Amino acid sequence: RLKIKNLVQRYDGRKVVDDVSLEIWPGQVVCLLGPSGCGKSTTLRMIAGVEMQNSGEIWVDGNLICDTVFRVPPERRQIGLMFQDFALFPHLRVGENVAFGLRGSKADKGMRVEELLRRVGMSRYLEAYPHELSGGEQQRVALARALAPRPSIMLMDEPFSGLDNRLRDGIRDETLEILREEETAVLLVTHEPEEAMRMADEIALMRRGRIVQQGAPYNIYNAPVDREAVAFFSDVN
Ligand code: ATP
Ligand code: MG
Repeated sequence: RLKIKNLVQRYDGRKVVDDVSLEIWPGQVVCLLGPSGCGKSTTLRMIAGVEMQNSGEIWVDGNLICDTVFRVPPERRQIGLMFQDFALFPHLRVGENVAFGLRGSKADKGMRVEELLRRVGMSRYLEAYPHELSGGEQQRVALARALAPRPSIMLMDEPFSGLDNRLRDGIRDETLEILREEETAVLLVTHEPEEAMRMADEIALMRRGRIVQQGAPYNIYNAPVDREAVAFFSDVN
């Protein structure tokens, strides 16, 4: 379970993340939804630990992992990452990519890799190199790699935006199914209302660094907090 409290980030004195708090339970998908530049990726980078916040706290499964004086390094946070530009290692085969973050015996790692590739429908590409795969196939492998160490939290930053529409719907649904089965707490970033409506259990609507409304997709869509939110949702049908 992920809990963030009062996160603030300033760049050159400007608050780009302004007092953001969220809680995500195992198996729950929360969408951080908002226009370009509102601070979504910055929020994710602080949770991942690749960037330090100015103030606020991050908790994982009841443990404080980061505040302004204490900081668990990114590789020890048990957080999975899936970003649009988070590419596979080109010189490693599919199986080696998925095994990359795993510890333990060779046999155990092999079993976990096989299991994950089966779940994402990529078993027969075990020995292939990333450049031999389509974009959608690479994305499936990236999902398997992110899930391999059994992270309790998955951060996804527009992970489906490189795919064509037809492929995207299928991969979105499959990804959600796998994440729910693994009881992963998911924070998904998107600037597309339609994607948030489709994927989220809960939407946190973000604007100029702040969460301005939060709740079930249906409620947010039907009762937007103000005119700006109405306009933002107007292209969903
Ligand atoms: P998008 O949907 O376009 O990805 P976003 O919501 O992810 O947008 P962020 O990348 O979090 O937005 O950026 C928030 C704001 O902070 C933007 O105005 C951006 O220009 C600014 N910003 C981001 N990174 C830096 C940085 N390293 N130094 C200075 N300003 C930055
Ligand atoms: Mg972004």
